[in-house]
Amino acid sequence: MDQTIVYPNHSGETLNNLVLAVVPNMWPGGFNMSGLSVDGAPIADYTLSGQRLEFALPAPLAPETMLTVSIQYALILPFAEQRDPSVERPRIYGFTDRQINLANWYPFIVPYEAGTGWVLHDPWYYGEHLVYEAADYEVNLVTDPNVVVAASSFADYGGESTRYTLTAGRAFAISASPEFQVVSKQVGDVTVSSYYFPFYENPGQAVLDASAQAVELYSRLYGPYPHKTLAAVMGDFNDGMEYSALYFHSRGIYNLYNGTLQNLVVAVAVHETAHQWWFEQVANDQALEPWLDEALCAYSERLYYETVDPSLVSWWWEYWPGRVGGTEALGWVDISVYEGGGFTPYTNTTYLLGARFLEDLRTRIGDEAFFAFLQDYRSQMNGGIATSNDFFTILRQHTNVDISDLIATYFATPH
Ligand SMILES: [Zn+2]
Repeated sequence: MDQTIVYPNHSGETLNNLVLAVVPNMWPGGFNMSGLSVDGAPIADYTLSGQRLEFALPAPLAPETMLTVSIQYALILPFAEQRDPSVERPRIYGFTDRQINLANWYPFIVPYEAGTGWVLHDPWYYGEHLVYEAADYEVNLVTDPNVVVAASSFADYGGESTRYTLTAGRAFAISASPEFQVVSKQVGDVTVSSYYFPFYENPGQAVLDASAQAVELYSRLYGPYPHKTLAAVMGDFNDGMEYSALYFHSRGIYNLYNGTLQNLVVAVAVHETAHQWWFEQVANDQALEPWLDEALCAYSERLYYETVDPSLVSWWWEYWPGRVGGTEALGWVDISVYEGGGFTPYTNTTYLLGARFLEDLRTRIGDEAFFAFLQDYRSQMNGGIATSNDFFTILRQHTNVDISDLIATYFATPH
């Protein structure tokens, strides 16, 4: 790989070093760097340990100036079952015997927070740990023509490689398989596609229909969809995850499809689609404040069901404990992934309890203020990394109703 990063320093501080996340290096021998330079000057002195690549800059980078980092490297992809050794966890990045998945596959400069420094959290056993700034991407890919490629943007064929461009994206992902079947649908100027393996036509179509409906609904409720494509990709593994204009959906869930809307094929499809607003447009610190995107995406499922078939809303609320595998006591919405206490308590809290908070909030302040707030929150924080404080500050611009009891019920930290 030959990668160029043009980095503008919007941190407000003079930077003396750079920190990049290099997730492929979590697998020993998985990332082999052959060149590293800044503005053409080779960097010989760097540390690369686990997912962290760090080096001093040849010259300080003043605020609102730019530099260019060039990196040459080769990746050795892990087999999908080969766990990330740091937390003994299977990752989407890697390959199976019929699929290659490139997610968090390139080095990227992590966010810099004035006063705090570089934001690169440790991986954890569940949840996400990476935080992404918005960036423009150009990816030139050479592939076998017999392989079907799903990616975070339209493909521009011609020449030796296929060119993909993405504006203001958080994470450019690629999935390729010679076995992919594809169905697509147009929603306004957005092309929604569902990639699935043979013999999964029915869930593959259900994922397409739900994702397309969700794009239409959330565009209306929250604000415009940010890209021209959305790829829903059946993973040859049991995990779902959102990236820019692309999400993975779990093979295990496709296997359970029952032909109705009352199942996880549909609920997860609309949840992952909602991440194109809450993750892609409005990012957040996924490790320290996972509720910010997960509660909104869980609640987006509820909004989907109330729109397409209100009789399913009560099913949806009741289904949650079964869905996450237990009914453990719930704690605070605003825990970090590290405080989650296991996958089930973690999702019960940040997803389900977060959705209950949003339901109570909506009931308390009324639909008009609730949806005006969500639109404004998306609009004000679009392209940025929101915090819980941003959430409540913007909320209070839309309501004077007292919600202190709700905050005391759901949140460990007062707002
Ligand atoms: Zn989610």
